[in-house]
Amino acid sequence: MKTAKINEIFDSIQGEGPYIGYRQIFIRFCGCNMDCAYCDTDFKTGADYTPEQLVKKLDTFDLNAIHSISLTGGEPLIHLEFLKDFLPLVDKKIYLETNGTMPHALKEISGYTDIIAMDLKIDSAAKIGDLFSKHEEFIKTAKETNKEIFAKIVFDEKIREFEINECTRLAKKYNLPLILQPRMEGNRITVSTDFIEHTVKAFTSRYPDTRLIGQVHKFFDIR
Ligand code: SF4
Repeated sequence: MKTAKINEIFDSIQGEGPYIGYRQIFIRFCGCNMDCAYCDTDFKTGADYTPEQLVKKLDTFDLNAIHSISLTGGEPLIHLEFLKDFLPLVDKKIYLETNGTMPHALKEISGYTDIIAMDLKIDSAAKIGDLFSKHEEFIKTAKETNKEIFAKIVFDEKIREFEINECTRLAKKYNLPLILQPRMEGNRITVSTDFIEHTVKAFTSRYPDTRLIGQVHKFFDIR
């Protein structure tokens, strides 16, 4: 029987990106194929669910009151076989939060997703090497299947010119809205105001569809 390990399932408010403020049910999957330096998410422990058990669990929430179901993690796409069985059972908008490195998995379930919130990982902040070719494959796959997609870039004062050029090159090529998110440690922003302004200008002068959006759930102290 296909199961997935899930760390938590909760009803809250989206705190990042263009859908900020919408109420969602969050399903936090365990496990990730990356190991980012700034990761502050607990996704190691959890309970096993079958697709049917997870549907039952969702029914305990007020699904009429939410905007969408957020698949988050960890990396939800590492649970591809589970998602292939689970997603067809769900009659609600699906918002996929992903690190944007598993294009083949996305291809298999993209028909069941509505909004893709991907990361563009930059090595200066995440310390996991340059992933631009992997990200490009991912964006291409999402665009081929006509999915709404935008990319979030977590940055700090170590961001390199090369990274700004690569992010904006990809964004231009695929018409991809960009969200700049200054790196935070707990509830503290680690980037100075001057540097944030400088980075916003560096991005927008190359690609105007770039927005600066912080993690508001941390300011409101909600999950
Ligand atoms: S991709 Fe996301 S969940 Fe995975 S290690 Fe990086 S920040 Fe954490």
